[in-house]
Amino acid sequence: MKLRNNTSILNKYRLFKIRRITKKIIKLESEYRQMTDEELSGQTIKFKERLAQGETLDDLLVEAFATAREACYRILGQFPYEVQVMGGIALHQGCIAEMRTGEGKTLTATMPLYLNALMGKGAILVTTNAYLAVRDGEEMGKVYQFLGLTVGIGAKEEDTDTNQDSEEDRESVYMADITYTTSATLGFDYLSNNLASSAEGKFLRDFNYVIVDEADAVLLDSAQTPLIISGFPRVQSNLFDICNQFILTLKEGEEFFFDPDKKEVYLTDKGNDYAESYFDIAELYSSESWELNRHINLALRAHYLYRKNFDYVVQDDEIKLLDNRTGRVLEGTRLQSGIHQAIETKEKVKKTKESRAMGSVTYQSLFNMFPKIAGMTGTGHQAEDELIETYHVPVVSIPTNKPTQRIDYPDKIYATLPEKLYATIEMVKKLHAKGQPVLLISGTVEITQIYSKMLLQEGIPHSTLTANNVAKEALIIQEAGQYGTVTCATIMAGRGTDIKLGQGVAELGGLAVIGTERMPNSRMDWQLRGRSGRQGEPGMSQFFVSLEDELLVNNGPEWVKKYFKKNNNTERRNYGQPLKSKRFKRALTHAQTKSEDGAISSRRFTIEYDESMRIQRNKVYALRDKLMLEDVDLSAKVEKIVFEVIGDFLQTHPKRSPHQLRRYILDNFTYEFKKIPEDLLLASDTQIEDLLFLIFKKEMKKKARIVQTHEGMSEFYRLAVLKAIDEAWIEEVDTLQQLKGVITTRSTAQKGSVSEYYKESLRSYKEMTRQIQQKIVRNIMLSTIEVDKEGRFSIYFV
Ligand code: ADP
Repeated sequence: MKLRNNTSILNKYRLFKIRRITKKIIKLESEYRQMTDEELSGQTIKFKERLAQGETLDDLLVEAFATAREACYRILGQFPYEVQVMGGIALHQGCIAEMRTGEGKTLTATMPLYLNALMGKGAILVTTNAYLAVRDGEEMGKVYQFLGLTVGIGAKEEDTDTNQDSEEDRESVYMADITYTTSATLGFDYLSNNLASSAEGKFLRDFNYVIVDEADAVLLDSAQTPLIISGFPRVQSNLFDICNQFILTLKEGEEFFFDPDKKEVYLTDKGNDYAESYFDIAELYSSESWELNRHINLALRAHYLYRKNFDYVVQDDEIKLLDNRTGRVLEGTRLQSGIHQAIETKEKVKKTKESRAMGSVTYQSLFNMFPKIAGMTGTGHQAEDELIETYHVPVVSIPTNKPTQRIDYPDKIYATLPEKLYATIEMVKKLHAKGQPVLLISGTVEITQIYSKMLLQEGIPHSTLTANNVAKEALIIQEAGQYGTVTCATIMAGRGTDIKLGQGVAELGGLAVIGTERMPNSRMDWQLRGRSGRQGEPGMSQFFVSLEDELLVNNGPEWVKKYFKKNNNTERRNYGQPLKSKRFKRALTHAQTKSEDGAISSRRFTIEYDESMRIQRNKVYALRDKLMLEDVDLSAKVEKIVFEVIGDFLQTHPKRSPHQLRRYILDNFTYEFKKIPEDLLLASDTQIEDLLFLIFKKEMKKKARIVQTHEGMSEFYRLAVLKAIDEAWIEEVDTLQQLKGVITTRSTAQKGSVSEYYKESLRSYKEMTRQIQQKIVRNIMLSTIEVDKEGRFSIYFV
């Protein structure tokens, strides 16, 4: 296989070292087989003792792997192969182990998970869906339990339980020695953990070691969309309607520019001027107008980038999003930052409340928080550069257990879609006639359904899988290797499930995988081929392509389009024949590279944008942790903050009116100051400062009397500060989220860039720090405290 020939020198060197360790583990086989169950499971305690005495995980590697390996054999009846041991070592070393589909990655992960869990700091395995997390966690969990370790499963299967877990549940999941969960659950748990209001509410410990299953899919393909936790509706804005009306008056090409291919839409300079006169404002790109600006952009995007019945459907007076890879309605998923409301306005349905982003994290930031990260995938090598750049993890290609026998036929390229459809079905018919099982894989649900209809017409019975029920489809796909079976599936359907060959099928050539189009990147092509020919079984793969395929239409060279126009007819001499010329094959490779390059640069873009959010998030979360977990005396700090806040007010209001001063005192310091002495209004800055500080001191004294103890007062300060931080941070996350929307549109209009986003986000960060201080003052001054008989007190913040 081509992939292997590219194996770099570095990879060879790594493999060489891994092999040497593997040999030592293999040598222990018979010795460990002799051990009693008690001796074997007793190893865990011995290892932990040795770690406590200063030995390292690397010192224990050989024995711990031998232990886990033997335990797998005794508990599961599966003895990890030599190549699986090699894969396990790569995982322990913080690499991405590239192992072909069917090589047994689930079993491979048990050895490094066991070893790394011995430190008692947790080892986590993340999968792409809950079904796999539960299945693998339960199955492999038996091994760890036998060895005296605990296991937690952090993800729930879709249909089983919709109830939120309690904090204790989640704590036990993450305090377990080994945790199986999904990447999304881990991300959301991370965010909600940092919204906890006390140390008791926290359930995550520091991250230690993670293995990411299907690493390229998670770390790259899913990494573009940040995970966002939302809550608290924002105040509903009426700008949606106004802007919706406004953009209906715009002329394309003149007042706004629209490029459907690049998915870009923005106001031209002329449109900008027009907006300024339409709304009677001085400048659209000023901080005063940015809400308006945001809503204009939202309306433009809602109208031009989101297509009805393609990106969304209107159902029961609601906008429901469609997953355009699988075509199914994404229940409960909503677009963020107002775009959902803009589409609702466009479609004239009832507007839902615009929720606020309370926390957001990308997979890049999430996984980079682990001191050690490893991954498993069938196809990682093609993306090694990017994986190293983003996550600093090298890829090690592990050899297969048995030599591959699958035959990968060269693509069959046709000019038109009908020719391709016909040829594909003919091939399925031929294979089906002799009983060879066929797995027909398409990129989208629509195409899967087209093939399904055609097969029906031909009278070929088959199952159709469109990734809408993971557990059910896993059961169906398991059978895809039986005699005479035909299965139509999207690329995602039944992922991670093993396809075993039925009786007599190997003799017929094994499972035939047919791809009905080449995928947006070659990794996906290989994932698709990899469904066949596992563990040295026979098999074949074949792609059918037409010049009308989305990949070529969007990314193909110009001459292909011209060629297609000229030959798009049935009278042509070679109608129905595949195109033989090499240049079509080259065009296809070119289109795929271009498509993947586009994806890579857009991922880079996401990382750049996320950088300022990451820095801010780290600072805020660290501050919260310090407040919650450490014993800091806040009284002196608070005093300083009060001074700063007063100074800030005086400085920003040099010519304050009596009314302003009165309002300020009432809003921030005390309600008991209804009548302000006349002379105070003429007072100097210093006099006002003195007065406010006096009010502060008096209020604190009063509160201290109610609370009575010093510890109680500390707790009061802590809560007041924490609340201030949280409120301001939630605002900030939401602002950054929206800012990104505004700036990305602006930058495509050549008006700004990532650096402008950084500048703006730094400005809003400074504003947030100011807000925090102000809120702290309000919280300590305007809150009331009540103490019950047992001395427990409740604080009521305004
Ligand atoms: P992958 O995720 O690499 O595609 P899986 O983890 O789904 O592979 O494993 C494929 C199949 O091989 C499973 O049915 C598993 O039980 C089986 N298997 C894996 N390793 C072994 C082994 N060492 N001995 C026997 N069966 C194994």
